[in-house]
Amino acid sequence: MAAGKPSVSIKDLSLNFGNVQVLQALNLDIAEGEFLVLLGPSGCGKSTLLNCIAGLLDISDGQIFINGKNVTWEEPKDRGIGMVFQSYALYPQMTVEGNLSFGLKTAGLPKDEIAKRIARASEILQIEPLLKRKPSALSGGQRQRVAIGRALVRDVDVFLFDEPLSNLDAKLRSELRVEIKRLHQRLANTMIYVTHDQIEALTLADRIAVMKGGVIQQLDAPQAIYNRPVNRFVADFLGSPS
Ligand code: ADP
Ligand code: MG
Repeated sequence: MAAGKPSVSIKDLSLNFGNVQVLQALNLDIAEGEFLVLLGPSGCGKSTLLNCIAGLLDISDGQIFINGKNVTWEEPKDRGIGMVFQSYALYPQMTVEGNLSFGLKTAGLPKDEIAKRIARASEILQIEPLLKRKPSALSGGQRQRVAIGRALVRDVDVFLFDEPLSNLDAKLRSELRVEIKRLHQRLANTMIYVTHDQIEALTLADRIAVMKGGVIQQLDAPQAIYNRPVNRFVADFLGSPS
């Protein structure tokens, strides 16, 4: 267990799709401010777990706590989380500014507060020159910055990332990886980051949870997992380049 009180606490979480149990009585405590990476091969249940935390899937059994509050049956928008997807999920008909402000307008925030938050987020993510553009006029890396900005302006407690770099080429991937690390250092928010990429996991994580078949195989600091894998699966997975 990492130091600090848990920011996200998952208790005996199970999730079935029909007869298939995708997550099996999973327990996980993520400390406040921690960068936790969920690492594992395709199909092991990473996105399913993240979607459960986000409230995008109804769980079959167990409980989820965020900042001490039982959010198991709360709406996604009431959980204090912001999610960033591999596919960006921006509104194509709106400008960047429109994408950033939409959720805030819906929540009824005053105009000057919305402007303040957009100014701060676009400074942090270096997207000021893009505010009047539509997503179709942006590169993949720029789109992903906007997607992160949309979580940032909402002032969320916990950022959830689902393979945010997978659609980018190698150069942009390493640039944005550095950017996400810097963002975590600056904000000190709790971040839960899904990837199948060992390098991303080893460079970003405070701790890595290695998953296989809906079960966490090992949960530890990157160095510890790399140097002392608990089983053959973890050793092979960490050792194989993605
Ligand atoms: P990962 O993100 O690690 O690649 P997922 O969480 O997407 O894995 O999927 C875990 C397992 O659940 C896979 O076997 C996948 O086929 C299955 N699965 C995911 N979503 C659904 C769904 N909506 N209905 C049925 N099975 C699903
Ligand atoms: Mg996935």
